[in-house]
Amino acid sequence: MQRRKFFQTAAGVAVLAGAGKAKSAAAKTHILTVRGAVPAGDMGVALTHEHVLVDFIGADKASRDRYNPDEVVEVVLPHLHHARQLGVQTLVECTPAFLGRDPLLLKRLSETSGLHILTNTGYYGAAGDKFVPAHAFAETADQLAARWTADWRDGIEGTGIRPGFIKIGVDAGPLSDLDRKLVRAAAKTHRATGLVIASHTGNGVAALAQLDVLKEEGVGGEAFIWVHAQNERSADVHETAARAGAWLSFDGISPKSVERHVAAVVEMKKRGWLNRVLISHDAGWYRVGEPRGGNFRPFDTLFRQFIPAAKSAGLNDDDIARLIRANPREAFAVAWASRP
Ligand SMILES: [Zn+2]
Repeated sequence: MQRRKFFQTAAGVAVLAGAGKAKSAAAKTHILTVRGAVPAGDMGVALTHEHVLVDFIGADKASRDRYNPDEVVEVVLPHLHHARQLGVQTLVECTPAFLGRDPLLLKRLSETSGLHILTNTGYYGAAGDKFVPAHAFAETADQLAARWTADWRDGIEGTGIRPGFIKIGVDAGPLSDLDRKLVRAAAKTHRATGLVIASHTGNGVAALAQLDVLKEEGVGGEAFIWVHAQNERSADVHETAARAGAWLSFDGISPKSVERHVAAVVEMKKRGWLNRVLISHDAGWYRVGEPRGGNFRPFDTLFRQFIPAAKSAGLNDDDIARLIRANPREAFAVAWASRP
């Protein structure tokens, strides 16, 4: 009787419809790129963890005066064109604020290369907090979340360019108080914006600890990308995180590590969790302070070596498409693209 009455009221039906929609992946319609919202269907083949530029000087000294953007474009653009020729349509740029994030540079590179590029909001608490700005030590998780949510709402630093995801970083577990606060702030920002959280994570202990913090904040594992999951060698720990809904980012593909990445991905397929796996190079890196940015690593090993090796190891074309198209789209698409 209760139940029937519930369905008879218009309000009841609206509540049910709303709840269903919020949970449906189909409701996630766009990605937020440095050139604005783009239909998620246009994301195409995506590299989900790469870097254009990184400056390791530290949060207190980081400055855009430390490099010449014209030179950076000269160095980086050929690599982006090369990635385009290999079929890449979207590149997720994971350099956080105070480590060389430069939305205007990324926009320029996106316009000239034709690639969709995503940038981020959030702070990087790994590497012993060297890249955490002074205010973040004093502020609460709510205050930090308010800053990051403002980036999403208004654009980053007056550029009007909005972040397409949240990027944080934590050292190996157990989590420090500061790392815990950053995770909490990311969870609150996710609740306000729908942006996925990509976290540079020291090890499996830290990954599972972050999922616990998210749970306390009412955020499910689907909103969490465990960055550098390849650094944890236990497939059981990978599976535990996948069961909690998390994305496993095996993102250190290089000529030297192809075999290890293939083994990790094949293991996840065997266990039935390929639908939670992301792959990328963590490559690039015009390094500020080195002549012409030092040795820039290209974005091509995934196509030239990883995919052929993965196919030899038993992955089929559908599996590959899932890894480089479907999973990135599901991880980074947002349910609402415009400001509230
Ligand atoms: Zn990285």
